[in-house]
Amino acid sequence: MRGQMMNLPLTITSIMSFAEQAHGDSEIVSITADNPSHRYTYTEAFRRARQLANALAEKGVQEGDRIATLAWNDYRHFELYYAISCSGAVCHTINPRLFPEQVEYIVNHAEDKLVFVDPDFVPLLESLIEKLPTVEAYVVLTDASNMPDCSLPNVVDYERFIAGHADTYSWPDLDENTASSLCYTSGTTGNPKGVLYSHRSTVLHSYGVALPDAMSISAESKILPIVPMFHVNAWGLPYSAPMMGAKLVFPGSKMGDGATLQRLIEEEQVNMSAGVPTVWLALLGYLRESGKSIDSLKRVVVGGAACPLSIMEEFSDKHGVYTHHAWGMTETGPLGVFNALKPGMADLPKEQLDAIKLKQGRPIFGIDLRIVDDEGQVQPWDGASTGEVRVRGNWVASGYFRRDEVDALDANGYFGTGDVACMDERGYMRITDRTKDVIKSGGEWISSIDLENAAVGHPAVAEAAVIGVPHPKWTERPLLIIIREPGTDLEKEEILAYLEGKVARWWIPEDAVFVEEIPHTATGKISKKDLRAQFSDYQAE
Ligand code: ADP
Repeated sequence: MRGQMMNLPLTITSIMSFAEQAHGDSEIVSITADNPSHRYTYTEAFRRARQLANALAEKGVQEGDRIATLAWNDYRHFELYYAISCSGAVCHTINPRLFPEQVEYIVNHAEDKLVFVDPDFVPLLESLIEKLPTVEAYVVLTDASNMPDCSLPNVVDYERFIAGHADTYSWPDLDENTASSLCYTSGTTGNPKGVLYSHRSTVLHSYGVALPDAMSISAESKILPIVPMFHVNAWGLPYSAPMMGAKLVFPGSKMGDGATLQRLIEEEQVNMSAGVPTVWLALLGYLRESGKSIDSLKRVVVGGAACPLSIMEEFSDKHGVYTHHAWGMTETGPLGVFNALKPGMADLPKEQLDAIKLKQGRPIFGIDLRIVDDEGQVQPWDGASTGEVRVRGNWVASGYFRRDEVDALDANGYFGTGDVACMDERGYMRITDRTKDVIKSGGEWISSIDLENAAVGHPAVAEAAVIGVPHPKWTERPLLIIIREPGTDLEKEEILAYLEGKVARWWIPEDAVFVEEIPHTATGKISKKDLRAQFSDYQAE
């Protein structure tokens, strides 16, 4: 027997209509290239999104067309998110930190029709002009008076693009499975691969993100998304915030600028923020130097890479900020697991509590997660067995855009994440490595992430990376690569001695090398591939 309840499509349009009606007066504050403090409400944002939708229609944008953005987090990018997807087209967010050849590949692979570009990234596109045949026009995200000199063909500024268009628009009734946005993973091997989100996956993911034991978003939230809108839809915050009526504070190009972040937090009374570990290092460093505070901030979400204990401790001890670890990837929406405590945990002795907080977290409802070993055996949640993390869910990719030859799912319909982890009895996942980065020494696994986390706990370590290097007896041994904090003179013996007692004895590297720079990927993660190439001639003793 079938239930008798209504079946309304889960669309981003429904988030927009609801937010406009229920939370029209909630604010969006932005830094843009042409305005250091732009401020308006959801009502105004969605009014302009309708003007933009009319402008897109006039340009002949059809359902399913890919419309690209190369842009920072700000209100115009927010308008694009809604106007493009709710028109039935696909909002293709491009990571401007990718190499120009990758941007070229992505635009051509997606066959983008229009590109909306921040003034900062105009030179990047100018270097590719001849190579992007599908792009019919470019729109620079600024107004006429701030338009940069530019040689892009068919180019106009955003304000002129939408000016004069009606602010009424009849949004199409979309099937909930219609594609809404497209994001390419940075592709550590081969060409970047596109993950094509749907309206339905986006709405369900937004509910998941907002749950109390996830990012806990409410009408009282004042959110600073430091994770870029070009990286997995800023972890879903531009959708969850309007759903709940939360205030959004967009930092524009200033995502890595501690002084601006501190000012925004104080002035806008930000109480929640989200970003990768590197941005927190910038903010905490600035707070240390300036002695300034961030009193309104209560919670930060850290994901994208493992969060070292030192960041968590500095946030809590000096600033009263609680750090939540979270894990996910482009293919998982991104939110997969989130670290919120269970009853009684808050009272545990510090060491035990730290050990829990350092885990990536537990799956939120909607994510079915299992650990599978090399032989394909599903592993118990026992705090010891490790294997690849595999997931299923309504916001997990089943394949890649126009890459039918890539088999993303296993025989049981689970997506293989390429991350190696262990689940404990209470359902908390601890990532130890990526499958391609694991170090196997004498037949046993060494976690490069645990070693890196332990090393950055030393005050003279600015950044640390661990890779496996060939070893005659043990096949592989870990090599510790360190950037010193400026003005310190840390030596190998001191850091290796420091690791004793923090990780298993046999994990301690034989050698530590000091470098000026550690290579990063376009999403800000340490590029182990480049490090391995750099140290390919290294021979462990
Ligand atoms: P990319 O395009 O670089 O793959 P993603 O954001 O999709 O960007 O990267 C996802 C990967 O980042 C995960 O598979 C995992 O390896 C790593 N990651 C994400 N969150 C965490 C975390 N909290 N701890 C450790 N690693 C993480």
